[in-house]
Amino acid sequence: MALLPIVTLPDPRLREKSTDVTEFGPELKKLVVDMAETMAWAKGIGLAAVQIGLPKRLLVIDIGDLTEDDEYIEGDEESEKRLAERRTTSNLEVFVNPVILEADGQIEYEEGCLSIPGVYSKVRRKEHLVLRYQDVDGKTHQIETRGFKSIVLQHEMDHLEGIVFTDRIGPMQRMMVLDKYKKLRRRKSEEDEEK
Ligand SMILES: [Zn+2]
Repeated sequence: MALLPIVTLPDPRLREKSTDVTEFGPELKKLVVDMAETMAWAKGIGLAAVQIGLPKRLLVIDIGDLTEDDEYIEGDEESEKRLAERRTTSNLEVFVNPVILEADGQIEYEEGCLSIPGVYSKVRRKEHLVLRYQDVDGKTHQIETRGFKSIVLQHEMDHLEGIVFTDRIGPMQRMMVLDKYKKLRRRKSEEDEEK
């Protein structure tokens, strides 16, 4: 059990394209446990391996029983407080080498990211997915998802391609969000220096 440091923008590792997981053994299982711990500690709802600096096609999600109507934003204290109780319902899911087979419908949701802490933006995603993936033992599964889970999976699968949510929004909005993020980072590094 170990907490792993989360890579944040503008770290170039977030832009790496992840490669397939080919070894299914105790090492993979240990990594999944560490990623789940790290995600829970950071109060995240999803974490891709590349976010801890490992460009492998592996992600964990835990949305408990949240739906898109809860308006939960990753890395946002207010929504965390509001939903503390519902978030204690744990439902860890692991996706190895996930592939989207079908995607349709539209849904818009205010997204945040553990790798871009403190900023949020509405992102448009597909509402319905058919997904093929492997579990930690290498067994292949196919599932259908809707709504919030589809959103979280698309966000995390973007990370496998080196894409972050701010790449998915309009240029004006992106400029505003990234400008705010820069200011937050600057303030944080000043605070850290004072400590
Ligand atoms: Zn993210």
